[in-house]
Amino acid sequence: MKHIGTAVILSGPSGVGKSTVCSHLFKARPGIGFSVSCTTRSPRPGEVDGVAYHFLNKDEFQSKIEANAFLEWAEVHGNYYGTLKEEVKPIVMAGRDVILDIDVQGCRLVKTSCENDPVLRCSIISVFLVPPSLEVLERRLRGRGTETEEAILRRLGNARREMEAWREYDYVIVNDEAEEAARRLEAIIESSHLRTTVMDEEPWIK
Ligand code: ADP
Ligand code: 5GP
Repeated sequence: MKHIGTAVILSGPSGVGKSTVCSHLFKARPGIGFSVSCTTRSPRPGEVDGVAYHFLNKDEFQSKIEANAFLEWAEVHGNYYGTLKEEVKPIVMAGRDVILDIDVQGCRLVKTSCENDPVLRCSIISVFLVPPSLEVLERRLRGRGTETEEAILRRLGNARREMEAWREYDYVIVNDEAEEAARRLEAIIESSHLRTTVMDEEPWIK
């Protein structure tokens, strides 16, 4: 049965575990792709250019805006982040799934910019990942040890605001245990392929 792939918008406050949950998911389902965003923030230790992000300077990012290369872009925690069109539509057209790890404003912008696109409109689902509590979120963000105190406080401040948007999403997953959260995400993606709107043809033999 042929179907359009699913573009999964995965949002949640910084430090909730989006990358961790995705890495469990990709181990279980290596066929699922990841939309590599562009960012002007500096790479964290271990982050490889072109894998975690395309790391650009501000001028390079600006050139991509001018070239209309982005499906959406936004300023997040003082840096620019953007989703390239080429990372999403060709993938779902080929019947593959792709995860977009983007923030709440990015989710809103993608939904608006895809409203008139018959493929992307059907392809997109949105999932919000939340921590079991704000105390746990703070512990995870500090435990990761990748941000300065100033950046941690900014991310925690943004987290409270971002979490209020959870009802704008189709699904919510509490990231208590990361492997269990990844299993739930996998189940959501699996069932998204059964939506009538993503099928190219009748799923029975005529
Ligand atoms: P995000 O991508 O949402 O910013 P990360 O995946 O980098 O978050 O996770 C932030 C920190 O929390 C990391 O140190 C990670 O190992 C830890 N973490 C993620 N999920 C869990 C979990 N379910 N239980 C305990 N620690 C977790
Ligand atoms: P981090 O710097 O921790 O990797 O990401 C910070 C925030 O930026 C996260 O909420 C993440 O989801 C978001 N983000 C990453 N890529 C994009 C993108 O392409 N667009 C938007 N709007 N947000 C993004």
